[in-house]
Amino acid sequence: MKFCSFSHRDVVRFGLVLPDDSIVDLPQAAESLLGAEKSLFDTPDLKSWLSQGAVAIESARKILKILEGGAKIDAGAVYGKDEVRLLSPIPNPGKIIAIGLNYRDHAEEQNVPLPKNPLIFAKFPSSLIGPDDEIRLPEISQKVDPEAELCVVMLNGGKGFSRESAREAIAGYTIGNDVSARDLQFSDRQWVRGKSCDTFAPCGPFLVTEDELEDPHQLDIELRLNGNLQQSSNTRNLIFDCYTLVSFISQTITLETGDLIFTGTPDGVGVFRDPPVFLKSGDVVEVKIEKIGTLRNPVS
Ligand code: MG
Repeated sequence: MKFCSFSHRDVVRFGLVLPDDSIVDLPQAAESLLGAEKSLFDTPDLKSWLSQGAVAIESARKILKILEGGAKIDAGAVYGKDEVRLLSPIPNPGKIIAIGLNYRDHAEEQNVPLPKNPLIFAKFPSSLIGPDDEIRLPEISQKVDPEAELCVVMLNGGKGFSRESAREAIAGYTIGNDVSARDLQFSDRQWVRGKSCDTFAPCGPFLVTEDELEDPHQLDIELRLNGNLQQSSNTRNLIFDCYTLVSFISQTITLETGDLIFTGTPDGVGVFRDPPVFLKSGDVVEVKIEKIGTLRNPVS
């Protein structure tokens, strides 16, 4: 299944994306299609709905099956994709955790050895933006660089997940762009300022469950700058896979529903190109991941 958060007439809602790209407002659909279970949808946003765990996902699957069986719902509960503004699937995460140097090809382009453990850093939730929102270049940086990343969305909160239990604690996957001000990142000798500028965490458009992807570690991932291919790889090149990352992080950090994990970027980033390529006003960045979609953001 594909879930999304969206706004319609300035009201934030959450829904299920159908194969024809229309969006079903989940609380409204539950009201007309489900019995007592509809109370599961009495939540203000996607994150609080997901916090109910696997039972929430299964109730959405029930709605999808009823719709596939031809049931009709109130036309006001279904939106065309052009009628809404898509938001980051989780507009209000408690944490955004990111992983550095997690693709073999990206380590090779820098001539650095593969890390023995995941390299963890943080991006602040205030840097989060959604599809089609503008990446705003800070005046003090001349070296802003996008990074295509598969992004994990947590379902179950908790600590100390094994690699096996980590898989069930994941709600699904979306697309992230780990925008980075290289001059600030390298001059500071740690990454918080260069990675957490406002608008530096584009995310979306959809939260896709694992069954829809078959294998999250066999997905083509690419980044295009103004239509030109800049990064092209596959998530099979991840050094530490998503389950290992969730397990590793949760040994020391409590994960919560809706937390986002940006899992690292493949080779081809602008700063290591010859000559280097950095973002400028008027550019358009598109990150595409197979079976998830395309995250597009203009630059200003
Ligand atoms: Mg990154």
